[in-house]
Order: sequence, then C-alpha cells, then structure tokens
Amino acid sequence: MTMQKTFSIIKPDATRRNLTGKINATIEAAGLRIIAQKRVQLTQAQAEGFYAVHKERAFFNDLVSFMISGPVVVQVLEGNDAVAKYREVMGATNPENADAGTIRKEFAESIEANSVHGSDSLENAAIEIAYFFAQTEIVG
Ligand code: GDP
Repeated sequence: MTMQKTFSIIKPDATRRNLTGKINATIEAAGLRIIAQKRVQLTQAQAEGFYAVHKERAFFNDLVSFMISGPVVVQVLEGNDAVAKYREVMGATNPENADAGTIRKEFAESIEANSVHGSDSLENAAIEIAYFFAQTEIVG
C-alpha cells in the first residue's frame, strides 16, 4: 500500500441534481480524503484540453458539450492506492455495468452523464491535478 493522490471531477449531471454531498460521503466512506476541492464552470477550451486524449472518438464533441453544460467540482483525493481505489469506488464507465454500491451505479444517468471522473493512472493523476490546482491549494 502506498499513499497516492488522484484527481476527481463531480460532473454536471451530479451537480445539477445536488449530489455533491452524497458523492463526497461515498468517497470519504471508502477511506479517501478530499484534500483539495473547488466548484468551477469549465470553458470549452479547458474541457477540450482535459479530454484531448479522446479527440478522435465519435463522442468527443458530445462529451465536451456535456462537461460545460453546468458547474463541476474538481477535487484531489488522497489515500492508500488512491488511483485504483477511486476507480473501484466510481464503478464502470457505463453505469449498467457498474457494481452495486459504486457511485456510477447509484447516481449515473448514462454512459456519458456518469457523475464522476477519476484518473486512470498515477501519471495521469499528476497531470490532471496540475491542470486544475496550484500546489498551494492542496492541503493534505
Ligand atoms: P472513464 O475513465 O471511465 O471516465 O471512461 P473513458 O476515459 O473511456 O471516457 C471518458 C468519458 O467519456 C466517460 O466518463 C464518459 O463521460 C464519456 N464516454 C465514454 N464512452 C462514451 C460513449 O460511448 N458515448 C458517450 N456519449 N460518452 C462516452
């Protein structure tokens, strides 16, 4: 077990339905600590940059439109094996395939409006954290 930081986004479908607190409770119950957090309205350029890896995918434009359709909550989570742990807590991309008790099973509306983002590797976690947070905003 190693202490890690991962990056999380509570997506617009969840902020719209006032689910930030319920999702944070699930994160904390899993033993992850929210060590940075802010609610922001992404610009189109920010959303396109964040999801640049997906720019050739058929759903890219829809995904960007969805991600700027309302406020999001960006977060840094810390804990033992936080990257893999949070992926477990989130559940599968498609909520129909997500395990019971996961955030996506409990809250997601669709494969696109799936309530949360979490980094898929330690390397991407560091890149994604730096995309949104200054070191001074992260308080462990
Ligand atoms: P994640 O790591 O589980 O978030 O999944 P991916 O990296 O594969 O996809 C990034 C995000 O794109 C997902 O969380 C969804 O919001 C969206 N997405 C993924 N697959 C699809 C799809 O087939 N259709 C649409 N509309 N959106 C998708």
